[in-house]
Amino acid sequence: MDERRTQQREAARERQRIRRQRLREEERQSIRDRNRQRMQQKRRNMSQDERELHLDHLRNRDHVRRNNMNMEERQQFLENMRNRDHVRRNNMNQQERQNHLENERNRVQRHRNAHNMERQIYYIGAMDVQCQFCRALRFQREQLNCCHNGKVMLPPLQDYPENLRLLFDANNAEGANFRQNISNYNSAFAFASFGANIRPPPGRGPYCFGLEGQTYHYASNLHANDPEERRYGQLYIIETNKAIHNRVNAPENANCLVSVFQKINEALINNPYAAAYHNMRDIEQQDQERAAIENVSPRKVTMHFIPGPDRRTYNNPSGNEIAAIFVGDDGAPPVHRDIIVYPIGQQRERIAYISCHLDPMVYPLLFPNGELGWHIQIVHVAQRQTRVRTKVTMQEFYSYRLAIRDGFSALHRAGKLLQQYIVELM
Ligand SMILES: [Zn+2]
Repeated sequence: MDERRTQQREAARERQRIRRQRLREEERQSIRDRNRQRMQQKRRNMSQDERELHLDHLRNRDHVRRNNMNMEERQQFLENMRNRDHVRRNNMNQQERQNHLENERNRVQRHRNAHNMERQIYYIGAMDVQCQFCRALRFQREQLNCCHNGKVMLPPLQDYPENLRLLFDANNAEGANFRQNISNYNSAFAFASFGANIRPPPGRGPYCFGLEGQTYHYASNLHANDPEERRYGQLYIIETNKAIHNRVNAPENANCLVSVFQKINEALINNPYAAAYHNMRDIEQQDQERAAIENVSPRKVTMHFIPGPDRRTYNNPSGNEIAAIFVGDDGAPPVHRDIIVYPIGQQRERIAYISCHLDPMVYPLLFPNGELGWHIQIVHVAQRQTRVRTKVTMQEFYSYRLAIRDGFSALHRAGKLLQQYIVELM
């Protein structure tokens, strides 16, 4: 009897599984909604005892499940939870967010009460104190070295591309996807590769970017050995649709959207590094045409990024101002060279930690207009220079950049990407 019933149940389950597979996504969604409502109704009708019992059951089930996980499954589980929470938070409207925060506060309070934890409050005041020199905001009881008392004054970053700015605020699937995968989108458009041993800290909690050991950055060659493997700068010299195709098909970008790739592509239209790679390609092509006419072999074309740009243009350089292109082995190379980009092959250039090109080449979504990072030529405000020290140090530069000021700042909205950037700076 029992056996027959089990068989019947199995068969029913199988039928249901097949039916579900046939359903389209919307239908599936509506069933999910119905189930959710049914569960909510059921929960509402429960007595207090039943509810306790039910919660106990759920807790035990989760506990057993978690205990049976191996390390990798646990990491994956935590990552999924984090992603789920992140997406959920991003899709909330103002009211839902308020409710969510209130619930979280209550939950923490209940936990504290249950464990007799005394809540210690240390209040640092509101973030409404503005620096008289650079307008940076700080908390009332915070010590902040935003501009070293007016000694450092950097030109503001150029206007952030409007279509990307909207993605930071968009309350839709595209916006949520952009924010969730911002590091992937950034790497897909970077001009240099980023190598590091990425080790997020264990346990639950907010997203945390962790690194172990050293980081490496390499400027990409002009051409890839295999056209299907085009990456970084190499994607800027081919046709837009092809480049987007390459980016979408990279395995690490499986969660990324074509529409977002298109928007980023449009936003980087004036990027000086994209222009520099383009220039190099044009010059290479010209030399190949000349060689074909003269029936000689084409010369080697290399691009040399300029280390200390002209002070007048250090904030918004053009392609010609950041790089010089040399044709032939006998072309006079610059005395001071920063990064060399080669046409093709195994040879590739590591970008120095102190190079001013590192920030814009590695973080195009933070600096879409190619704003340079720190370099030696930036000087203190004339009236506040001392006789010994006139140059802005690296620490002063990044303290200034990372301070919060009024107005939109992609840097401070970039979430995971901001964390990566800060960790790399340290
Ligand atoms: Zn200041």
